[in-house]
Amino acid sequence: MSDLHSGRVVVVGSFNVDHVWALPALPRPGETLAGRYHTGPGGKGFNQATAAARAGAATSFVCALGEDAGGQLARALAAGDGIDLRDLRSDEPTGTAGIYVDADGRNTIVIGPGANAELSPAFVGEHSQALARARVVLTQLETPVESAEAAFALARAAGALTVLNPAPADAIASGALWALADVITPNETEFCAQLQRHADMRLDPDALAGLADAELHAHCRRLLPHGSVVITLGKSGCFVSHADGALRGDAQACYRVAAAAVRAVDTTGAGDAFNGALAASLARGGDAAFAEHVAYANRYAGLSTERAGAAASMPRDAELKARFG
Ligand code: ATP
Repeated sequence: MSDLHSGRVVVVGSFNVDHVWALPALPRPGETLAGRYHTGPGGKGFNQATAAARAGAATSFVCALGEDAGGQLARALAAGDGIDLRDLRSDEPTGTAGIYVDADGRNTIVIGPGANAELSPAFVGEHSQALARARVVLTQLETPVESAEAAFALARAAGALTVLNPAPADAIASGALWALADVITPNETEFCAQLQRHADMRLDPDALAGLADAELHAHCRRLLPHGSVVITLGKSGCFVSHADGALRGDAQACYRVAAAAVRAVDTTGAGDAFNGALAASLARGGDAAFAEHVAYANRYAGLSTERAGAAASMPRDAELKARFG
């Protein structure tokens, strides 16, 4: 697909090889357990790039990979989805995640950032031409924040929209990155973590669901005074809040979008599906209001929950149209 037909999305972020063990209970210190094992691609950056590409956007993915089997896997998968891969070749091993999941679906995750930690602002700068062609630049917090800042600065200079998925919740987004974000897309936990960090305000994620729209909107305005906030709320869909005078084509400054009616079997990567699809839809642009792009992302993420896996569960745009019209 050419950039003329669909504005380009550039994703800057992580790739991990996920090693997943399904266990009756999470292991305690000193314990040895046997469980069902599977492995597959992951990393928020890669999942989101896959979603953007399958949602129909010309997509570039700027990342760092090791010269190992994990790196080869990433290259093969990116080629299969037509993703323009811009990979820094690191001496470090490709990123890994060890994931234990118990019978109740609770998990414990250990990340080995490996090559992901090597993604440098200088490497991002080498791809400034790709970034200059982007309509949307999307990043997260699993790779060095200085690289995200470099990507957003280049994107802003070229007039692209910057979308920050501030995940995982315990990662620190710098004030500089925050200032360069046009749109942020936290889930409930990430929203509360960033509210404490950037607005010095404590809010319990469990209390979020009970807040009136006006109250939640006020919190969003404290968190990102200059931009738009999209809080993803799992099976409750999402909440959107815009800065005064920057409604991005919407009629209202804040509103909710209900989740799609789906039969969810595995919500792993639903947030990544949402982010990739939102970026793709925003890049397609046209006359659509922001609310329509959010509604598309909601349907896309909903459909992704009907299948197991993260990157593997990302649907194609045609499947979405066939399902929801
Ligand atoms: P994860 O960490 O599992 O990737 P997340 O916590 O980042 O997910 P969520 O807020 O759980 O993100 O979900 C993201 C989006 O996925 C929601 O806004 C919604 O559009 C969709 N979604 C998630 N769960 C469901 C569900 N059970 N039914 C319909 N849509 C869902």
